[in-house]
Amino acid sequence: MSDTDAWGRICTDMKSTIGKEAYQSWIDPLALHKIEQGIAHFAAPTSFIGRWVDRNYGERIRSSFAREGYSVTRLDFSVSPAARKAATPAGQRSAPLNAPSAKTTATAHAAEEELPGSPLDPRFTFDSFVVGKPNELAHAAARRVAEGGEVAFNPLVLYGGVGLGKTHLMHAIAWKLQQDNPGFRVLYLSAEQFMYRFVQALRFRDTISFKQMFRSVDVLMVDDVQFIAGKDSTQEEFFHTFNALIDQNKQVIISADRAPGEIDGMEDRIKSRLQWGLVADIHPTDYELRLGILQAKLDAQRAQHPNVTIDPKVIDFLAHRISSNVRVLEGALTRLYAFASLVGRHIDLDMTHECLTDLLRASERKVTIEEIMRKVAEYYHLRMNDLMSARRARVVARPRQVAMYLAKTLTSKSLPEIGRKFGGRDHTTVIHAVKRVEELKQTDSQIADDVELLRRMLEA
Ligand code: ADP
Ligand code: MG
Repeated sequence: MSDTDAWGRICTDMKSTIGKEAYQSWIDPLALHKIEQGIAHFAAPTSFIGRWVDRNYGERIRSSFAREGYSVTRLDFSVSPAARKAATPAGQRSAPLNAPSAKTTATAHAAEEELPGSPLDPRFTFDSFVVGKPNELAHAAARRVAEGGEVAFNPLVLYGGVGLGKTHLMHAIAWKLQQDNPGFRVLYLSAEQFMYRFVQALRFRDTISFKQMFRSVDVLMVDDVQFIAGKDSTQEEFFHTFNALIDQNKQVIISADRAPGEIDGMEDRIKSRLQWGLVADIHPTDYELRLGILQAKLDAQRAQHPNVTIDPKVIDFLAHRISSNVRVLEGALTRLYAFASLVGRHIDLDMTHECLTDLLRASERKVTIEEIMRKVAEYYHLRMNDLMSARRARVVARPRQVAMYLAKTLTSKSLPEIGRKFGGRDHTTVIHAVKRVEELKQTDSQIADDVELLRRMLEA
């Protein structure tokens, strides 16, 4: 009976106990080298796999060895990129494996060093990402890249304002790639960290290993790349790393807070290279998406605070009023639930105003009624005076109603105030206009588009 026979039986056993998928990801890539003085020496394709197996299956493996009559107190993993290929199906390992130990091969060792990435947030997955019109393209592109396989677009550039889900999507890609391809070297880091590493490498005159490390990854993700604008030597290094990876057909994913072409202080050659792949923008959230996100977050809050109830009007109110970014939106909900559960109250609009005064004030739109009237008039080829006039013709009346609706939803002005601005109308006229436009938005896609477009222009 040899060590490898025993290991073969343990493998067969584990395949049925931990499941075929987990087995293939973690156990199959291992090759047992020898058992010596209570230590089972394995070759693993990456140090990550070794650590994972030790942490998650170490106990099980040791007791299985005990059942086979071996006293194994510790598992040792050395890295050998060949381990995966050397591994044969469980049960068929008869000859002892002579997997080379990477501790002897310097390049493999350098490549297997801990990647200096940023930690991934476990909450940022595709499952928790709510898709709507504003982020549809970015999401689809991220999904496609996360499938791995043929490199479809390189680089993938995701850009958009603060808090719109760029980092969330990047982490989701990284999670998925790592999950589907254990041993895959996915490096995610902020541009700031990239620079920090580079500056350190310069300081310690160790740019060679910096270069090697970055060029050895399978997927590189750099978040908030606008940070390196104006930082010349970092840009230079970034450019070379970037080119080297793209030339090797390795996936590169970049995010920025604006379109690559609009990043001041970014070298032109980088701007143009970034545009070679797919540039997907994430638009500001619209009301529907915010509603969807709130619904999703609501489930989590409900689970955490089962005794707290919430008036559905509050959700609608938040979706209307907090348009700045998703982080703020989430924060608002979290705060409401924390407050309600603390004081044992139902969440209604009163409490919302009370509890979120600062947030609501900060996200108060700076749009004025005059601006709204000007934009609406321009959009429908009318004069501002038409909107204030008493004319009732549809060509004037409809835009006027749209303008009133926008004034009500985009400003915090009261109904009488709005009425006054529109040629001294009564507040009931404004209520009627708001209702009418709300109905039309459901039935008339032209109106719905007009309103959405105007809202975007006004909020920009
Ligand atoms: P960015 O990197 O674009 O500034 P983040 O990815 O950090 O934004 O997103 C900010 C917060 O909003 C995170 O908590 C994220 O989970 C959440 N978020 C953003 N977009 C969505 C979405 N479409 N669905 C669910 N959560 C989202
Ligand atoms: Mg971010």
